[in-house]
Amino acid sequence: MTDFLLDLNDVQRQAVRATEGPVMVLAGAGSGKTRVITYRIAWLIKNGYASAKNILALTFTNKAAGEMRHRVDVLLQQGSAGGLWIGTFHSIFARLLRNDIHLLGYDRNFSIFDADDSKSLIRQSMGELNISPDSVPLNTLQGIISRAKNSFILPEEFRRSAGDYNQQIAAKVYDLYTRKLRENNALDFDDLLIKPLELFREHPMVLEALQDTFRYLLIDEYQDTNKAQYLAAKMLSAKHRNIFVVGDDAQSIYSWRGADISNILNFQDDYTDALTFKLVENYRSTGTILQAANSVIRNNLRQIKKELVSHRSAGDPLTLIEARNERHEAEKIGEYIHSIRIEKGYEFRSFAVFYRTNAQSRVLEDLMRQNRIPYKIFGSVSFYKRKEIKDAVAYLRFLLNDRDSESLLRIINFPPRKIGETSIGKLREFAEAEGITLYEAITRADEGQFQSRLVNSLKGFSSLIEALRLLAETGTVYAVLTELFSLTSIPLLLKEENTAESLARHENLQELLSMARDFSDNNPDQGSLGDFLETISLASNYDESQDSDNYVSLMTVHASKGLEFPVVFITGLEERLFPLNCYEPEQLEEERRLFYVAMTRAQEKIFLSWAQTRYLYGQPQYCLKSMFISEIDSSIVKTESGTVLADRKERQGTRNAVPESGGYRQRPAGAVSAPSQKPRESGLREGSTVHHAVFGQGTVLDVQGRGAGQKALIRFRNAGEKTLMVQYANLRVL
Ligand code: ATP
Ligand code: MG
Repeated sequence: MTDFLLDLNDVQRQAVRATEGPVMVLAGAGSGKTRVITYRIAWLIKNGYASAKNILALTFTNKAAGEMRHRVDVLLQQGSAGGLWIGTFHSIFARLLRNDIHLLGYDRNFSIFDADDSKSLIRQSMGELNISPDSVPLNTLQGIISRAKNSFILPEEFRRSAGDYNQQIAAKVYDLYTRKLRENNALDFDDLLIKPLELFREHPMVLEALQDTFRYLLIDEYQDTNKAQYLAAKMLSAKHRNIFVVGDDAQSIYSWRGADISNILNFQDDYTDALTFKLVENYRSTGTILQAANSVIRNNLRQIKKELVSHRSAGDPLTLIEARNERHEAEKIGEYIHSIRIEKGYEFRSFAVFYRTNAQSRVLEDLMRQNRIPYKIFGSVSFYKRKEIKDAVAYLRFLLNDRDSESLLRIINFPPRKIGETSIGKLREFAEAEGITLYEAITRADEGQFQSRLVNSLKGFSSLIEALRLLAETGTVYAVLTELFSLTSIPLLLKEENTAESLARHENLQELLSMARDFSDNNPDQGSLGDFLETISLASNYDESQDSDNYVSLMTVHASKGLEFPVVFITGLEERLFPLNCYEPEQLEEERRLFYVAMTRAQEKIFLSWAQTRYLYGQPQYCLKSMFISEIDSSIVKTESGTVLADRKERQGTRNAVPESGGYRQRPAGAVSAPSQKPRESGLREGSTVHHAVFGQGTVLDVQGRGAGQKALIRFRNAGEKTLMVQYANLRVL
């Protein structure tokens, strides 16, 4: 009966067998934490401590939950894992709420609102409260509300403690939004985490019944739990106290989403009788990979010291790819994938390519397609299917074909122009009555029976379209997109919302701009808008045309948590990209943990890559090699030509010397000259003469705002007057 525990080492085995009371396994990457959870579940069932339905195992992704269930099934052989509760916090809690939510006054058939549904409800609430999105942007409010919910701060409490202007506005919206959700018999994603807490608090009987059902609670990746998840776990395990958590403080990477590293650091204070196990052997990676990961994470000041010892041989050194630009970087990755496959007989599924920001996937995706490498994007949709890309592309499509009503409906109220469903309904009626297209109805709106406010909005929209169409006839795709972004302020609005999500969307739009520029540069006659759209349509169909499960995995570092691959490429290792712009020492430490997560996914081989120039934020940037590269023991990093980095340094003097001890204050000498971290002031002033890549030479008439939001009104000699966002316009002051 105990045979299967022979697959574990001593400490792992002890952790499995310590079935009663609070237990924590705090251990580094690849040391078998997830493996211990699976074995423990099997152990509990096999030895009759509990039947499957008395065990609740919580993970962070569906993929992880699926894998865990599969592994338990294999261990139990007869398939007695049925009835086992394994899932993400969200899915399990939704299931619990279906049973008991009527006690909170909801119907069991509640709907779950996704981020878009909840956004529209917040918009309604703002409308009813007469709060203009100009005073506080919608996404900012959504972010504030979501963060409050994740910290289990309910509207009443939030109102009492609301500090600045934004928070006071948010308090009102939060309150009405909550009431509206209830009217809709709906829960948003955050409610799935906090409604159980309300339920447990107000109905102790429900909690007690669940405590008796789930006598054993197990949580993977505990370092990434937020306050609400922490409280739920605490309440559920309060009676039997069989709470088993595993985690690694060095892999905490979700603080921006409310995860609180102190949940794991304080476990022993919460449960003074807790048993703690430390696993030090790493079974996943070669010795060299671990040495590299250890040498980097050592630079974090805030961490529990732990070293990982490899169970495996040293293996290959890391390879540093130094590319000219992001395309060159992607080409090299493609070449390595092909050559390693041939040399070592690896399958495509052995490779993973990681990037820090979603926008970087575009060039990688394109190169994979061109080189016939099957790939799949994990944790996010393919670049071309992202909402903001589809929105921008809808504008371009519509410029080419004004009968395309799908595209029209996508853009007519995006960005918001107060043209709602009802107005569109009336426009449709008008179009039908007149026998004209919807767009014609828009251009002739003053002939219909519409309120003047609506007519004005429609006029504004059609003159925007006409201006862009005019430009599209002669200008490049890049010029059209630049103008579209400038006239609609779509990227600017995203930037101002300043949430992690909106900044990622902003970044994607900049990437589309880069793509348009490449397209114009690489095509004879700069390529037509039609050709550009065709390229995009073909690209966005590609990932659906794959049927096998043998593909290269592309994902952000965040999405790679808990996974493992023989060969890992970590791309974009440049200052300001990875580490992403950091303003605080804590942020830099989180970036470093993220890099640590990336490295520790690899089993056999790591490639690190960086590019000397990259289109970032819509313009080509000269990049500096990431400080993280210099933090790795230089004796185990080789360049592509085979030179060990340490030797290269000796020849070059100490320019890239690794500091004796790390920390954000002691940046390696080779990385100090990072471009300034805050948006630079442009130095533009009224009267300056400037040069723009598309519009040519012009004179600045007015400059408004500062930093990221700065706009300039410029009269171009050959292109008329334009208002441009300075940060993206890439102006050269002459
Ligand atoms: P992470 O922190 O990245 O989530 P982890 O601590 O959860 O890592 P696992 O994924 O459980 O680590 O294990 C890493 C790899 O090592 C897996 O392939 C696992 O099967 C293997 N492994 C773990 N323990 C042992 C062991 N005692 N014997 C053999 N292989 C093991
Ligand atoms: Mg794990």
